[in-house]
Order: sequence, then structure tokens, then C-alpha cells
Amino acid sequence: MAKNTIAEYAKFIRPQNFDELMLLAGKVAGRSLRMVNSTAVGGGVAEMLTRVVPLYNELGIKAKWDVIKGNNPFFGVTKTFHNALHGLESEVTDAMLKIYEEATAANLAELSFDEDVVIIHDPQPAGLIAAREKTKAKWVWRCHIDTSHPQPAVWDFLKKYIGRYDAAVFSTPWFARELPEPKYFIYPAIDPLAEKNRELAEGEIDAVLRRYQLDRSRPLLVQISRFDRLKDPLGVIETYRLVKKHADCQLVLAGGGAVDDPEGVEVLNQVREAAKDDPDIHVLLLPPAADLEINALQRAATVVIQKSLREGFGLTVTEALWKAKPVVASAVGGIPLQVIHNFTGLLVHSVEGAAYQIRYLINNPEAARKMGEYGREHVREKFLITRKLRNYMVLLIALDHPGRDVIQL
Ligand code: UDP
Repeated sequence: MAKNTIAEYAKFIRPQNFDELMLLAGKVAGRSLRMVNSTAVGGGVAEMLTRVVPLYNELGIKAKWDVIKGNNPFFGVTKTFHNALHGLESEVTDAMLKIYEEATAANLAELSFDEDVVIIHDPQPAGLIAAREKTKAKWVWRCHIDTSHPQPAVWDFLKKYIGRYDAAVFSTPWFARELPEPKYFIYPAIDPLAEKNRELAEGEIDAVLRRYQLDRSRPLLVQISRFDRLKDPLGVIETYRLVKKHADCQLVLAGGGAVDDPEGVEVLNQVREAAKDDPDIHVLLLPPAADLEINALQRAATVVIQKSLREGFGLTVTEALWKAKPVVASAVGGIPLQVIHNFTGLLVHSVEGAAYQIRYLINNPEAARKMGEYGREHVREKFLITRKLRNYMVLLIALDHPGRDVIQL
């Protein structure tokens, strides 16, 4: 894993924000912190933890990251939970709850928690809170999902665990629900120095495009996502077909799987079937560490699409905006925080709407360029990793002062 030093980030942000980060780090240096999630690669959470853990350590916080173990039935259950928390009709049986409880018990038997603070990410490992009484740690549940309209059966089951934490962190107030513990709001963020986001030379971009037999002389529409129904890859193909009637474009649907998402293969097969008669639709199954490829595809895109039906924060949108790309994305989850309609990109609600806006951007390159530029500045201001580190330092301080609204530093 390439490691960057914190000083390298100063050039991306205002000096006072950098100074504030260092000041806060001084206040919490020496703390120990354990992160736990359910996959080491694939998806936004793994993406962020990979980058943030070494930086915590450099800032003097002893941070460790563990991934829980689970078999296919367990990840089948947690994927159902994930969909249900996003509000999808899902059948949840007693047998499923038992699978969750058994996997939680198996992980508890292998883990011990000696740190000052434990941050558990998402529902998969949420049951680890059962270890709380045996530890001195403050326990934080970090939820990356929009839980504003969950299926009640799943929320009620998970709340038995989630409601026992010292604090809960949501990406935005829109995603949150009533809980007994205090809630904090921290936007996710991207790392501008990660392989996925660093500046690329034209030659590097060309090399990736040649490898995938993509033609840089024609408009390129790109959606990067795990093959997940909620990312609506079939809707993206329909959108492309409408655009294609008027513009000779190509479509790239690129993504890999995640260990904790067993539905991926089935969705990928459906996408391949839908794409098979059109050589201008490129369905790319990416290996886990395809950061350079994703970076190059996003940078080569004429328009980046994120046509999700439901979304967490939508880090792929952040990545595209940072690359100054015009983005056409569904107004779901955290996307409207990032895409301010007609300013940093275009929000859509349907296949037809998406096709219309993509055509607009293809035909108006100057407007597209400006949106991209504003998008990059919006990310600089709000969604870079340095801001997120600052927020977590404040959270660590707040955990030392339970019940206090104002803390004198
Ligand atoms: N990603 C990746 N490989 C893939 C698909 C996605 O590295 O094959 C990355 C993507 O670049 C982004 C993250 O995984 O950083 C996806 O985060 P997002 O919030 O968009 O969606 P999630 O997968 O968490 O639902």
C-alpha cells in the first residue's frame, strides 16, 4: 500500500484547515483506535479505511483495522439487511437472524478489544457490541447506509445492537434514525493522493484505454460500480441506448465484486446478457486493486454516470467530481450533497432524464467543463480526507465528554 505523509496533503487545502488538523491531532495523540468492517477490498468503506488508517498512525493515533470473517450464508443475510435498510422489500426469517447471531459469536470468540475507542462500520459487524462490557473502550457505530426508510423488521432486530453504542456516526442527518445514543455526522471523503485519484499523465490514461480497446476519439460514458442491482447497471444500458440514437458514443460499465456482496455474479451475468449485441458497450470485470484503471477510466470519461436506485454516500461521484468530470447522477442517498444540480453536475430521476442530460453535456462541452471545475472545488472544500480526519479527531475528543454540547479545547 503506497503511504503518503500528512504534509503532502497541505497543498490541496487551505493553510488554516491544515493547521487545525495538526492542532487537533496534538490533542488526541496517543489514543488507540480499532476499526472493524466486513471486507478488506471492494466498496467505499474498505476504500476509505485503506487510506485513513496509515494517516491516523502518522498523526499519533494508534489505529488498527480488522475485518470480520463470514461465510456465504452470513454475507447473504447481511446483504439482505443492507437492502432492507435501504428500504427494499426483503424477507427476513428467524433462520437468517440465527445465522447473523452465530457469525457474530464466532467473530467475538476470535477478537479482543484493548483500544480506547472501537469503531464498528455498518451492520455486518454491529453485533460485536456484545463485547463492550469486557472492554474499557468507547464504542462507536459508523453507519454508511441511508437508514432513513428501512424495513422495520431488520431495523428493529439490528437496533438491539446498534442502540447499545456510546455514539453513532452517520454520513448526513438525512440518513439517520432515532437512537438512544448521541449521533454525529461526518461526510465520507476521498484521498487525492490515492492511486485512484492522483493526477495521471495522458500516456497512462491512453495505456489503460488501449488495454480495454476503448476509442478516445468518441464520447465515452462511464459508470464505475460494483455489479449491484441498486447501482442500476441495466438502467445505464437503457440510458446509453437512448443517447446512442443521437450520438456515436461508447459505454463502460466497470466494477468488481466485494467479498460481502454475494449477488454480484448474478447481476454481472444479466449485464453481460443485455450488452452482448453491442460492441460499444464494454462490461469490465475489474480485479480488487484496479485503482489505476478506475482513475484512468474516470479521467477519460466524457460524462461519468452514477444511476443508482439507492446509494450510500456515493464515493464514485466524489472521485469523478475531483477529476473535474461532468457527472449525471440519480438524486439518491448522498449524491445530492455532491451534485448540486446545474452547478457541480446534473441530477436525474429516470432513464429518459439521464439520457437527456448526457446528450446536453456531449453537445455543450463548455458547460460540461465548467460543471467539472465547480465539482472539483466543491470536493476540495467538503469531501477530502483531511476534513474527515479533522472530524474524527473532534469525535474522539467528544467521546471524552459525554453529555456535553460545548467543549472547551
Ligand atoms: N470501487 C472499486 N472497484 C470496483 C468498484 C468500485 O475500487 O470494482 C470503488 C470505487 O472507486 C469507490 C468505492 O469502491 O471508491 C465505491 O464506493 P461507493 O460509495 O460509490 O459505493 P459502495 O460500493 O460503497 O456502495
